[in-house]
Amino acid sequence: GAGSAEAAESRILVFVRLRPMSRKEKEAGSRSCVKIVNKKEVYLTEFASENDYLRLKRLRGRHFCFDSAFADSTTQKEVYTTSTANLVEGVLEGKNGTVFCYGATGAGKTYTMLGTIENPGVMVLAIKDLFSKVRQRSHDGNHSIQLSYLEIYNETVRDLLSPGRPLHLREDKQGTVAAGLSQYRAYSTDEVMELLQQGNKNRTTEPTRVNETSSRSHAILQVVVEYRYMHGVNMVTRVGKLSLIDLAGSERALATDQRTQRSIEGANINRSLLALSNCINSLVEGKKHIPYRNSKLTQLLKDSLGGSCNTVMIANISPSNLSFGETQNTLHWADRAKEI
Ligand code: ADP
Ligand code: MG
Repeated sequence: GAGSAEAAESRILVFVRLRPMSRKEKEAGSRSCVKIVNKKEVYLTEFASENDYLRLKRLRGRHFCFDSAFADSTTQKEVYTTSTANLVEGVLEGKNGTVFCYGATGAGKTYTMLGTIENPGVMVLAIKDLFSKVRQRSHDGNHSIQLSYLEIYNETVRDLLSPGRPLHLREDKQGTVAAGLSQYRAYSTDEVMELLQQGNKNRTTEPTRVNETSSRSHAILQVVVEYRYMHGVNMVTRVGKLSLIDLAGSERALATDQRTQRSIEGANINRSLLALSNCINSLVEGKKHIPYRNSKLTQLLKDSLGGSCNTVMIANISPSNLSFGETQNTLHWADRAKEI
């Protein structure tokens, strides 16, 4: 909703990140159908094949405008600084923050969130930044940083750092939590990278593609920063939570109208992603009742979506015309989230 300063403050910030064309896409003869303009706009063009598929005709394009649009040359650091650094500041002040990556499988979500050893992503850079900020301030109080990393797959919650039985969700004074989820006290960035890489290997894989993370798995890193200090004779505790989420692939899960929505629900494609879509739609429409209870993901995000928390969405897209439909869907969805 527009209007009050408060509403403007709690708006979702929406970014788009274009990844470079992959070798596979180049070899398949694909053309780029996305252009980033003025660091804010995405220009999407459709190609139509004339007779044979090698002769493509460029159709009229469409502009989408976002808080920032990252071209394929954008570094991990720039993505972090522009999208997430502010949320880290907020978390230190006790304000919850959420970043999620949205997009089709292969669009660059895991690269953006986790990254590689050489090019660490938002999760690792955020924690690194937290460490250095906490060190700067530690003279005036006591901080602790705790990490947990979980997966939602097929509406089952699992601990990625200490794999075992499925976890149940329960209500707690800090919101909805996964009971028995392990908490790691983190001390160094290298250690965190290793922990998360290992955790990512624990994500569910489809039986048919053993070494590939399932496109239907959501990975959620939660970083809880606790700050204790003396206020006169009283000990004050301030808690902020940062949630960093690598969502399941959005292909097939986009519900744009009631009818397709129902058939998707019937097909049980991805309840959590659909519920997230519905919550965002309800927030966009300014509804009083937000259906958080409909999935594990939205239950966990109840205190981290809308309201007084900082929320960032990074929509990941491929430049290839072979992914045109998915890119268009992702941009439409991101465009709508912008209105919250
Ligand atoms: P997703 O998690 O959305 O399925 P990935 O993050 O696994 O997609 O990305 C697919 C492939 O593209 C991976 O090999 C990844 O390393 C590469 N990739 C994605 N984004 C970038 C980028 N911005 N720069 C370089 N390589 C990238
Ligand atoms: Mg992935």
